[in-house]
Amino acid sequence: MFFAVSKTAKLRDLLLAGPNAQKWKWLIYMMVFFLLGYGVSIALVIAEQVDILLVITGIVFFVGALFVFLVVITAKSDIERIKDTSASLELNNKELEKINKELDLFAYRVSHDLRGPIASIRGLIEIVKSDRTKEESDFCLEKISASTIKLDGFIQDILDLSRNSRTEIVNELVNVRSMILEVTESLKYMDQDQRIEFNLNCPESLTITTDPLRFKIILTNLIANAYKYQDARKDKPVIDVSCTIENKMFSLQIKDNGIGIRPEHKDKIFEMFFRGTDKSVGTGLGLYVVKEIVEKLEGTIQVSAEYEKGALFSVNLPLRQ
Ligand code: ADP
Repeated sequence: MFFAVSKTAKLRDLLLAGPNAQKWKWLIYMMVFFLLGYGVSIALVIAEQVDILLVITGIVFFVGALFVFLVVITAKSDIERIKDTSASLELNNKELEKINKELDLFAYRVSHDLRGPIASIRGLIEIVKSDRTKEESDFCLEKISASTIKLDGFIQDILDLSRNSRTEIVNELVNVRSMILEVTESLKYMDQDQRIEFNLNCPESLTITTDPLRFKIILTNLIANAYKYQDARKDKPVIDVSCTIENKMFSLQIKDNGIGIRPEHKDKIFEMFFRGTDKSVGTGLGLYVVKEIVEKLEGTIQVSAEYEKGALFSVNLPLRQ
């Protein structure tokens, strides 16, 4: 008895705390009225007041039917709300699991990838401080400079990642060709031998509404990779970038004839911290950041590549208003 009462009390508290609280309150009043009606009917049977009994039972039955109908409707809407809440809780749970995994990996990598260059910088500074020839000191300074560039790249990737997950999308009109040219200009230092042929097939008039910062990160990472993973043995290293708009979709293609990707690495290159080659001096975060951004912009990214032949990255973004 106590158990039943406590359970009912819990259910009442739960229903009265939901958005249908007001409706449930009225339904409780109706229930009391309904029960009183039963009491009056019993009293009328005892008093043998058949005429009044008929009227009262009619009213009680009508209120009873209305009560059941309203309970079903209100409970249905409450059940749907609970279903929605549990679905979104499940989604949040999955999101949390992913974030937790990322954090674990992140802590490990931060200690490794940040402390590595710092330790080497400290060692090199000690060497420079001791009496060394100018050549030796210059060599150490070169190495220190390379380590700081690596650290800077790592911090930039982490910032891009955190900005993408924490900031809202800002939509602006972007001239795609201008932005690609701006990005390639900033990456020109990567083509030290000036051997790479860069072809751009993107109409001057092509504009899209997108988040300019996020879009630039996509372009920078994909074009930088096309430069980084060129094959020095090829007669003519080439990078082809093209963009089109078709069926309300913006599509960007970045193709190179570089070192390509081993088939067993194709599914892994978008993972956090994955580096598929010892040619990589990067963080292994670039493509992960790109994938996260593309997903945030509700687009898709695909790669098709052949080992030692080259790679083609295709990004598709739905057009925004
Ligand atoms: P990083 O370049 O710092 O290693 P990314 O996340 O940008 O990290 O790339 C992950 C891996 O994917 C790289 O280590 C490389 O093996 C492979 N990769 C990416 N882009 C290309 C490309 N254009 N050609 C060949 N391999 C690529």
